[in-house]
Amino acid sequence: MDQPPILQVDDIAATYNEFASALASVSLTVPEGAIVALLGGNGAGKTTTLRAVSSLLRVERGALVRGRIRYRGDDVTDAEPWQLAERGMVQVLEGRRCFGGLSVEENLRIGAFVRKPSAWEMADALERIYTIFPRLKLIRDKAAGYTSGGEQQMIAIGRALMSRPSLVLLDEPSMGLAPQVVEDIFEIVSALNREEGVSFLLAEQNAAVALRYAREAYVLESGRVVVQGAPEQLRRADVLRDAYLGAAASVPIGKSARLRQ
Ligand code: ATP
Repeated sequence: MDQPPILQVDDIAATYNEFASALASVSLTVPEGAIVALLGGNGAGKTTTLRAVSSLLRVERGALVRGRIRYRGDDVTDAEPWQLAERGMVQVLEGRRCFGGLSVEENLRIGAFVRKPSAWEMADALERIYTIFPRLKLIRDKAAGYTSGGEQQMIAIGRALMSRPSLVLLDEPSMGLAPQVVEDIFEIVSALNREEGVSFLLAEQNAAVALRYAREAYVLESGRVVVQGAPEQLRRADVLRDAYLGAAASVPIGKSARLRQ
C-alpha cells in the first residue's frame, strides 16, 4: 500500500477575531521525508497556515473555518497542539522565540519534555543537538537572551529537535540573519532531512534560498495558493514575479496553477 503523505492540507480557510479573513483557500501536501516550501510576501498567510496545521490558531484568537488537515493519513483538524507534538509534529515559531533569561541548555531541555525523558535520555538528546549544532555546546551556559540572531535560530530549531520530531514546521528561518548564517541553517535543515528523514514545511519570504533546498514549493498570496511546483519551474523569474506581484491571482479560485515540465 502507498504510504500516505506526512501532511495533507485540504482547502483550509481561517479567520482571526471571528471575522478577519486570513486564509481563503490553502491546500498542500508534504510527502514523507520531503522539504516543502511555503513562499509569499508579507501577510500572504504563511504563518497562519503553519498555525492552522499545528493547532496554534486559537492562541492568536484565530479559527479554522473550513477544510481538513491530515497527518500520516489521520484527520488531525481538531487535535490539540500537545497531541500533535506527541505524534511528532513540532513548530519553530517565527522570530525564533527563546526564553531569554534561561541558559541555552535550559532552552533545549524544555523541548524534550513532551517525551518525558529519563535523565539518560535527556543527556543523549542534548548530545545529539550539540553534534548537530557544535556552536551551541560552546555557549551552553550562556543566557539565551545574550546570544546572536543565528544562535537563537539554532536554539529554536534545536529545542524543536529535542522531541525527535518527524515533521518540523519552520517559520521564516532566514529572517533577520546574515546570508552566511542563513546558508548554515539551511544546510543543517538539509542534513537532517537527508540523514534522519525529518520532513519540513518551511515558510519563507526568501524564495531564492528556499527553492534551493525544497522538493516542492507553494506560493501564497492573500491567503490562497496561487502557484505550486518544483523549484526548477518556480525559479523561472516570471512565475515568481507574477505570483508576488499579483498577476497569478488571475488563476481560477481553488485551482492553483500546477506547473508541469
Ligand atoms: P509575514 O511574513 O509578514 O509573517 P505571512 O505570510 O506569514 O506574513 P500571516 O502572518 O499568516 O502572513 O498573515 C496573514 C493575514 O492574517 C494578514 O492579513 C495578517 O495581518 C493577519 N494576521 C496574522 N496574524 C494575526 C493575528 N495574530 N491577529 C490578527 N490578524 C493576524
